[in-house]
Amino acid sequence: MFNKILIANRGEIAVRIIRACKEMGIASVAVYSEADREAMHTRLADQAVCIGPAPSNLSYLNIPAIMAAAEITDAEAIHPGYGFLAENAEFADIVQTSGYTWIGPSPESMRIMGDKVSAKNKMREAGVPLVPGSDGAVTDLEDAKRIAHKAGYPVIIKASAGGGGRGMKVVHSDPALASAISMCQSEAAAAFGNDMVFIEKFLEEPRHIEVQVLGDTHGNIVHLFERECSMQRKNQKVLEEAPSPFVDEKTRKAICDAGVAAAAAVNYVGAGTIEFLMNPDKSFYFIEMNTRIQVEHPVTEWISGVDLIEWQIRVANGEKLAFKQSDIKMKGHAIECRINAEHPFKFTPSPGTISLYHAPGGRSVRMDSAIYSGYSIPPFYDSMIGKVITHARDRQKCIRRMQRAIDELAIIGITTNQELHRRLLANAAFQSGDFNIHFLERWLKEMNA
Ligand code: ADP
Repeated sequence: MFNKILIANRGEIAVRIIRACKEMGIASVAVYSEADREAMHTRLADQAVCIGPAPSNLSYLNIPAIMAAAEITDAEAIHPGYGFLAENAEFADIVQTSGYTWIGPSPESMRIMGDKVSAKNKMREAGVPLVPGSDGAVTDLEDAKRIAHKAGYPVIIKASAGGGGRGMKVVHSDPALASAISMCQSEAAAAFGNDMVFIEKFLEEPRHIEVQVLGDTHGNIVHLFERECSMQRKNQKVLEEAPSPFVDEKTRKAICDAGVAAAAAVNYVGAGTIEFLMNPDKSFYFIEMNTRIQVEHPVTEWISGVDLIEWQIRVANGEKLAFKQSDIKMKGHAIECRINAEHPFKFTPSPGTISLYHAPGGRSVRMDSAIYSGYSIPPFYDSMIGKVITHARDRQKCIRRMQRAIDELAIIGITTNQELHRRLLANAAFQSGDFNIHFLERWLKEMNA
């Protein structure tokens, strides 16, 4: 096993990885920006190296500084967490060619899946269902019209290199098509340096269901069931759960098998997520693969009993998965609420100093965060400051447990979105499982009206 791992990240995910290293007897190296001198990950790791000023492009995205930190600390492997450089195939390449182990999939699988058009081509070959639309990039307006008519309006124009919910446009009729395509192209060129766009049918009332997969270097790939992440605002997930309250046994088998087929098509190694949209009739379509650990991984850990970060590290070290698909059993229900430093209904960011922090506890409650009493949240990074995760034998009990955990959580000195979670957990549609990806935004609009 590795003696030492460098964690190229910050916040709760860096802390999560440091904790796994400690439990595995592996030394950890944190990297931090000047704004993160007092951060939890800087304090918890065995060693910490400053890699630059506060802005991410000068620190957490600064590849030469991170590689220098690995060299001076004699780290053997690099874990990228999520965000920052986690899906940057060039970084993975540099890590490997510099003689370190990359805790993630091969740069080759990252490249295929990182581009939506090439990912969809690969999925078509593998027989994974795709949203009807263009077979590849669209450049010609007449072509685009033909495709839109065949799929039927509304359609969505998406940037092949897009991510984080950016570079997408919904179009309802022919006259709007040309300008939407050119807008999407120029936005994508500016944001991602690649103006390739494609067309998909816009599914009107879908749910977001994703499948967690885990592969080793010996050709074994298993799934760890699905997660439902339909509670979104501006394409950002707010609350996730596993299993999905909408998915029955037959659909579960079909979507999880599709997830494994998708991962196998790119010889996937490590933890990855295949995202699908599911229609009310339970038909489902691949939208993209995230080639990294995800924020919402704890809900899967809880229902499957598998420590995903530990297994990312083990398979990166060449170990075989110690379980077969038939060994993995789903147990109970898990929910995650993302805690953001922002106004619960206006969504304005609220950085500042936490004068007092009290984490919820008790049976089957997990708090993953990087905050503490007296900690000042820097204004430079993501507003997500932690995650409350609960587990119970069934969904209803899990919701009750989450309600009492959210009530117990005290973060004084800044504004958080706790009140949003409190109201959402009490909402009848949420409680009955009757919602889709538009639910949260429509509900917020009603509340503000
Ligand atoms: P990103 O990489 O930016 O996250 P995705 O392809 O994963 O882009 O899409 C993000 C979100 O956009 C989805 O979760 C869904 O809410 C919406 N979306 C994407 N494609 C479609 C589609 N064909 N129909 C309806 N909604 C879509």
